[in-house]
Amino acid sequence: TKQSPIRTVNPFTNQVVSEFDVMRRTQVNSIVEKAYKAFALWRKTSFEHRSYLLHKVASIMRKRKIELGKLATLEMGKLLKESVYEVELSADIFDYYARNGAEFLADQPLKITSGSAFLSYEPIGVLLSIQPWNFPFYQVARSAAPNIMAGNTILLKHASNVPQCAMIMEEIFLEAGVPAGVYNNLLIPGSSIEPLIRDKRIAAVALTGSEPAGASVAAAAGAKVKKTTLELGGSDPFIVLADADIDKAVHTAVYGRMWNAGQVCVSPKRVIVPGSIYYEFLAKTKNLFRMLKTGDPMDSNTDVAPLSSERAAKAVIKQIRRAVEQGATVLMGGNRVDHPGAFVEPTLITGVTSEMDAYREEIFGPVFVLYTYRTIDEAIEIANATEFGLGGSVFGTNIEKAIEVARRIESGMVYINHVTGIAPELPFGGTKHSGYGREQSPAGIYEFVNPKLIRVT
Ligand code: NAP
Repeated sequence: TKQSPIRTVNPFTNQVVSEFDVMRRTQVNSIVEKAYKAFALWRKTSFEHRSYLLHKVASIMRKRKIELGKLATLEMGKLLKESVYEVELSADIFDYYARNGAEFLADQPLKITSGSAFLSYEPIGVLLSIQPWNFPFYQVARSAAPNIMAGNTILLKHASNVPQCAMIMEEIFLEAGVPAGVYNNLLIPGSSIEPLIRDKRIAAVALTGSEPAGASVAAAAGAKVKKTTLELGGSDPFIVLADADIDKAVHTAVYGRMWNAGQVCVSPKRVIVPGSIYYEFLAKTKNLFRMLKTGDPMDSNTDVAPLSSERAAKAVIKQIRRAVEQGATVLMGGNRVDHPGAFVEPTLITGVTSEMDAYREEIFGPVFVLYTYRTIDEAIEIANATEFGLGGSVFGTNIEKAIEVARRIESGMVYINHVTGIAPELPFGGTKHSGYGREQSPAGIYEFVNPKLIRVT
């Protein structure tokens, strides 16, 4: 039976723009074979050679950043300025591993009492990389750059709503001169992934996405003793301390939450403010909310983009309605925008308590949930109340105190006086149900290599 095609649907208009046939089984099989064969050659290439090619990938991305940015905005709706920034960030990640990969993977001598011993970092094979649509280029970069530098080859299965971003990445690798088979795009739905995970030619799996997708991928990989990294959802706490710069905290939280229409795994999804400054914080938040403009994501004056799809917008509205049914208060927004696209109004919610679903769930949209606390213990309790543990923020002028609070947050990253950020040289990843493993930074290159011990006596 023929599967339904993979589509580009513009979330600003909800119109179908293009359709692409899902790859057939035989075609997928020959791509897997190509990646497997390419590994045998690629693993023997020098770091200098790989570095040269990855720098080229970066420079092509920078040269084509407007074209790539427009494609991301067309397919998943984020603001064009955010798309272009994402392309630049992705290029920086390719450059970072091109520049530093050889040093990270140099033989590492071990301190021992007699003779010598060292670790030799060896690539492990074909990596199946499953990625989401919310950062269609950055997600590819942070998975592909370290692994290609390490000598692995990549099968990239992108989200089904960004097929053209997926295809253009493969084109860029080839344009840069990366040998065919080193980076390969698989145009298939998530439902066809399981047999691939069992395939002997695939060594390991990296997934960024939702918790259910992560759990099923890890189960299938576990059955075949294959390593995985999982970067899953998040519901980051944003704790404001009584001595914080309130204007800066409000501005950071509101714009941080509206970034990518709220569809960021490390968006400040729960803003936790002390009672002493609550009303001032709330008033200032409302003032900023009144200035937010939803609209055409290609227009540089727009602040809040449509969501990635009509389905995503409906899901967020459902979560808002359920929060209200359970007793929360919507102070601003809460509805669809009177426009054909996948819009949800910037929404401000208060009064969420521990019995409500919104207390624990991730809301993947422009929904700002404000909590209040009396003691730091209470703030920490709210912060750690979800199953997630991805990022988090603490705002305060006494940095030592802020760090003390940061240590008590159960997450993989905490930023002081900033939203959870992204930089090539800083690790990214979570704990608890936000998954395991790290991308970016030196840590990102050690996930899928074999640290082989060589001992000389
Ligand atoms: P999703 O449905 O899990 O999709 C992510 C990717 O996984 C897509 O390529 C999808 O393919 C594939 N997939 C879905 N079900 C699968 C399965 N059973 N087996 C194999 N692959 C499967 O994720 P989403 O809900 O669209 O994305 C948003 C989620 O990702 C949020 O929870 C967000 O917080 C998280 N996220 C996390 C990070 C991080 O670094 N921690 C970064 C960005 C996003 P199809 O599109 O074909 O279904």
